[in-house]
Amino acid sequence: MSTQEEDTSTVDTAFTDTPPPSERARVRRAAERAHYDGATIHTIVDDAWLCHVAFACPDVVCIPTACWRIGDKLYIHGSNGSRMMKHLTSGAPACVAITHLDGLVMARSAFSHSMNYRSVLIHGRFEVVRDADKPAVLDALMEHIAPGRAREARPPDDSELKATTVLGIDLTEAAAKVRNGGPRDKEEDMALPVWAGVLPLREAHLPPQPEPGFGGATPAYVSAWDQR
Ligand SMILES: Cc1cc2nc3c(=O)[nH]c(=O)nc-3n(C[C@H](O)[C@H](O)[C@H](O)COP(=O)(O)OP(=O)(O)OC[C@H]3O[C@@H](n4cnc5c(N)ncnc54)[C@H](O)[C@@H]3O)c2cc1C
Repeated sequence: MSTQEEDTSTVDTAFTDTPPPSERARVRRAAERAHYDGATIHTIVDDAWLCHVAFACPDVVCIPTACWRIGDKLYIHGSNGSRMMKHLTSGAPACVAITHLDGLVMARSAFSHSMNYRSVLIHGRFEVVRDADKPAVLDALMEHIAPGRAREARPPDDSELKATTVLGIDLTEAAAKVRNGGPRDKEEDMALPVWAGVLPLREAHLPPQPEPGFGGATPAYVSAWDQR
C-alpha cells in the first residue's frame, strides 16, 4: 500500500463547519476528511473498545488500553502500579488514538491503494478521577461493555477501588478523520484490467462461550451477541 494519502492531501481546508480546536489538532494532510464536531468524535469514540495512549516516559511509548466515554471525556483505568497510570497521573502530555478499519481500498495501481477508516486523535493531559467519583465512572465502563451489566456484576469493593487508578481526558482538543468510498486512481490507470473496489471489513461478533457449569439466566445482550 502507498505510504501516502491521495492527491487530495494538498487540500488544506476541512469541509466541516466546526473549526479545529487548536493548531496542533488541525488535520493538514487530506484535510477534507477532517471533522471537529462533538457528534462525529463521540460516535467514533463510542464504537471503540480500546484506544492507544502515546506519551514520553522518557522514551516515547504507545500503549493499548480499554476506553469509554462519559460526556465530553474519555476514560481509561488500570492498576496503580502501571507505569502508564503513574506517569499520566502526574499530568504529563498525552496523545490518544482511536481507529476503526472499515475496508481495504483496492486500486488499479499499487500506489493508489488505501484504507477506509474512522479515527480520532485526542491531545491533552489526563486528570485523576476522585475516589468519590470512581464507582460511577467505572459503572459507565460496565455499561459500555453491555447495557445493564453494571447492575448485574458485583461492584468493586474498597480494596479494588483503591488499587485502581481511573483517568479522564477532555475530548475538547480532538480531531476526527474519516475516509470512505472507492479508490481514486489516476486517469491513465483507469483502463487497466486490474480488480478495483473496496474489500469491506468489520469487527465480527462470534457465538458467546459460557463458563462451564454456569446455571443462571442468559442476559439478552449475550443471546443477541452474535446477531450484532
Ligand atoms: C487505518 C488507517 C490507515 C492509514 N494509512 C495511511 C498510509 O498508509 N499513509 C499515510 O500517509 N496515511 C495513512 N493514514 C492517515 C494517517 O493517520 C495520517 O492522517 C496521515 O499520514 C497524515 O499524517 P501527518 O502527520 O501528516 O498528519 P497531520 O495532518 O500533519 O496531523 C496534524 C493533526 O491532525 C490530526 N490527525 C492527523 N491524522 C489523523 C487521523 N488519522 N485521525 C484523526 N486525527 C488526525 C491530529 O490532531 C494531528 O496532530 C491512515 C489512517 C488510518 C486510520
